[in-house]
Amino acid sequence: MCKFCMEHGEGKQWYLQMKNYYPELLHEELNAEQQQVTGAKTRLEWNLGFFRNFVMPGSGKYPLPKKPENAEAAPAASRPPLSEDEIVANNMVEHFGQVLPIEDVERVIDSVDSITRMPCGCRYISTGQTNARYCFGFSIDRFGILGQFPEASASLETLSREEAKKLFRYFDQEGLMHSIWTGVTPYVVGLCNCDHDCIAYRTTIESRRPADFFRAEYICEVDWERCTGCKTCMSQCQFGAQFYSSVTEKVYIDPGRCYGCGVCRAACPNDAISIIPREKRPVAADLWLNHPYPK
Ligand code: SF4
Ligand code: SF4
Ligand code: SF4
Repeated sequence: MCKFCMEHGEGKQWYLQMKNYYPELLHEELNAEQQQVTGAKTRLEWNLGFFRNFVMPGSGKYPLPKKPENAEAAPAASRPPLSEDEIVANNMVEHFGQVLPIEDVERVIDSVDSITRMPCGCRYISTGQTNARYCFGFSIDRFGILGQFPEASASLETLSREEAKKLFRYFDQEGLMHSIWTGVTPYVVGLCNCDHDCIAYRTTIESRRPADFFRAEYICEVDWERCTGCKTCMSQCQFGAQFYSSVTEKVYIDPGRCYGCGVCRAACPNDAISIIPREKRPVAADLWLNHPYPK
């Protein structure tokens, strides 16, 4: 199990632990470490800032925060730069994610009490496109956060569980990997559907900078009795985990690279790909962050 499951899961996946969705967490005063990392006194304060500065600009109705003038020319801070491990540790305190297969997405949807579809801040930043609504927030409408952004109301939509599941199944088919996110850990703020335009994906996978999210608690495997080598699944994988053997004419999934998103399954016409707990394969069991192999 990942670090969050150990610390916040009490024997199960942290995102299936209902106490991590409790509204009391939003109003709780943050401890000294959390305050230092996030700059906020409560989770509600942090989440309001997150919505103001990241989510709502994606609606096209609110500006992105301005960079301070002369930011580039500012003198280097006297503190030494943080190490990669320190950056990841801070990310884990503030806003961190994990890849989820569709089955766990549906378990989460079945247990939350409100789901709001929202614009995607990453896609706005990376492509300029407004109203790309791939994010799904939990319970936020009940705590007055969305009411503070009336101009964005046309971009927000409260969904039933069935409506949300249908959309996630569609995104799964399209090859978008699902991820779940904290808003000051362990509070769970929402679920996302991501690809190359995701800032966290670009940071963690493409640039190989300190991780913003965990791999899933699972990996996928191909049953070579069923695989016909059609390669259809290969276009779904955003993690470079699938390889085709011209000798065997089969596809192989490298357990050391697989993030366990499970979206390759939706593309296979022969039902040849299955998902198994990560812990079942020693080579993958303790791989939670990026950099599976030495740089
Ligand atoms: S994590 Fe994914 S869905 Fe969420 S804001 Fe980023 S790209 Fe959009
Ligand atoms: S091989 Fe692994 S990482 Fe790639 S799509 Fe399948 S489950 Fe996701
Ligand atoms: S889509 Fe299925 S049958 Fe085709 S190569 Fe992938 S695992 Fe094999």
